[in-house]
Amino acid sequence: MPARAPTAEDGRGVRARGAVNQPQPRYECSRDDLFMWPGVVRPPELHAYPTPRQPVRVVFIGWNPPKPYRGFWFLDEHDNLRGELHTVLLRLRRVTAHAPDGWFLEEFLEAGYYFVHAVKCWAKAKYPGFGRGAVPRDRRNIGEPLARACAAAHLCEELRRLAPKRVCALGELAYCALRALQPDLDPKARPTEGRRFELSVDGINVPLLYTSFPSSSPVRGRQLRDFTRGHLEEFLA
Ligand SMILES: [Zn+2]
Repeated sequence: MPARAPTAEDGRGVRARGAVNQPQPRYECSRDDLFMWPGVVRPPELHAYPTPRQPVRVVFIGWNPPKPYRGFWFLDEHDNLRGELHTVLLRLRRVTAHAPDGWFLEEFLEAGYYFVHAVKCWAKAKYPGFGRGAVPRDRRNIGEPLARACAAAHLCEELRRLAPKRVCALGELAYCALRALQPDLDPKARPTEGRRFELSVDGINVPLLYTSFPSSSPVRGRQLRDFTRGHLEEFLA
């Protein structure tokens, strides 16, 4: 679904001081689409993203917004992923901001980084069938079909518009959405492996890193964020 034309109220969801100064389009999946997935009652509108600084060097792809109008770019509330990515990039000396605040987002954009959610049309903290305590049936029946539809509706167009030089998928849902656009990506790849691929989508041919969604969750005696940092250290070099 193409994003509709922006309206005056669209800017209110995203407030990176200095980073956002014009209304951005917001995304909706059509009502017909939504009947396919139990649990999606109405299109959870999401005010979209700030204007990127061109050229975009790396697009980070996360999961889904934790609440309507919230998430990575929304500074009025803490966002786990913004906090984690700030910590990772600070340790790698890619930013200098001491907190995941407006200054961090400004540096993030100035560095040519950008962030999008893989799925726009599920605005809850828990995404069906993915993450801790996931139910496989939910993944098959809701999570994967919704990710496929959302990737086709929004993500493909976003990647084309942003024209990034590199793409970084943070965790399983981001990779699942990219696999919907490029089915030959290895279905057995694991985020802790830090594997790289050539992403070939709609005329875009760029390196893709598949790494972990950064968090404190332990895997083989390390925290997931340590895997993310290790993989990104090489990828951003
Ligand atoms: Zn959608």
